[in-house]
Amino acid sequence: MLSDEEAFNAVLKLVKERGETLPASPPAVAEITWHCLLEGEIVRCIENRTEKERFHAGPLDLSDKPVFDTTIAAHRVPPPRDPSQQKTLKLVRRGSVDDRSCDCGNGTVACQRCKGAGDLRCEPRMPCTECRGADSCLKCNGTGSRANASADQAAQDPDERTVCKVCGALDAACSTCRGRGHLECATCRGAGLRTCPDCTRAGTVPHQRCAGTGRTVTWTEGVITRQPHTDKVKLPQFGVSYFAWQSAREQGAWGKTDLTDEKPLPGRQAKILGSSLRTKLAEHEQEVARHVDLSYLPLARVVVTAQPHRVYYVIPTSRAPYVLLLPSQRRAGQIAAVVCGVLLLLAMISRLIN
Ligand SMILES: [Zn+2]
Ligand SMILES: [Zn+2]
Ligand SMILES: [Zn+2]
Ligand SMILES: [Zn+2]
Ligand SMILES: [Zn+2]
Repeated sequence: MLSDEEAFNAVLKLVKERGETLPASPPAVAEITWHCLLEGEIVRCIENRTEKERFHAGPLDLSDKPVFDTTIAAHRVPPPRDPSQQKTLKLVRRGSVDDRSCDCGNGTVACQRCKGAGDLRCEPRMPCTECRGADSCLKCNGTGSRANASADQAAQDPDERTVCKVCGALDAACSTCRGRGHLECATCRGAGLRTCPDCTRAGTVPHQRCAGTGRTVTWTEGVITRQPHTDKVKLPQFGVSYFAWQSAREQGAWGKTDLTDEKPLPGRQAKILGSSLRTKLAEHEQEVARHVDLSYLPLARVVVTAQPHRVYYVIPTSRAPYVLLLPSQRRAGQIAAVVCGVLLLLAMISRLIN
């Protein structure tokens, strides 16, 4: 890190190079503010632990799973070597595994739909769709006795009639049911029973709870999940202009730190950053590990009393310090106002010309 004197001398050198002079009396004084730029990221490993009862239908071998005693919260797991890795660890509480045969015995239970019978009742016959059983045969009406026919049925068109299968009369029967007045059920073919669609005749179905295996396993499971959480760091948030940041990135000789004892942030830089750094570094709830990758660069902001409209940023590089000259915030505001005035004037002139 440069000293105040080195920073000021770098500014004086630029002033001279620009062919300017500072008044000899009173001697040139300057206000020097030190900033420490800090950029990079902190990757934290955030851990979550849960415990719940698990159920599995069917046999299950848990003997190769890692175990924990008492509670998952008290279980010790070494912190991860790489905090950026996502990881889920499932454990079994010692002695909690209950591998037993299901109450159903063999994995099957009686079919609810057919009550274990295997088939369901079915209507053996249905009314004829053509005559609806009303005038199935003009002679016997499906009874086989020709005396039953009523007089008005004789008016029916004989072209649509066929031989009655019941009484044998010619051109008298409905062509669909052939005089019977009903049709045989297509599903049961007149048997009066149909196959149960739920169990397809078996009378039993697989037991749902044990998935038809006859066994169940219950146990207490502990789950440890580790998730990376990346925090981008860019400090300080305020006080250093955008152009100074850009120059610092391009020209500056940045130092690297992971904030460990081997690569700590130098004391003076840490002091400059102060509470904003402490806030960034604060330990998160459930944090079990972190990886810090930061670059830092101390730079001086110099305002020479004789040139109050300017700000000099002195940036340490691998060679001589680099000095960036910027108008001060107030002067920048004034320049912007002048530019606006010129634009307004131009607009008025162009209106006059048109
Ligand atoms: Zn069962
Ligand atoms: Zn059934
Ligand atoms: Zn039927
Ligand atoms: Zn008939
Ligand atoms: Zn019919």
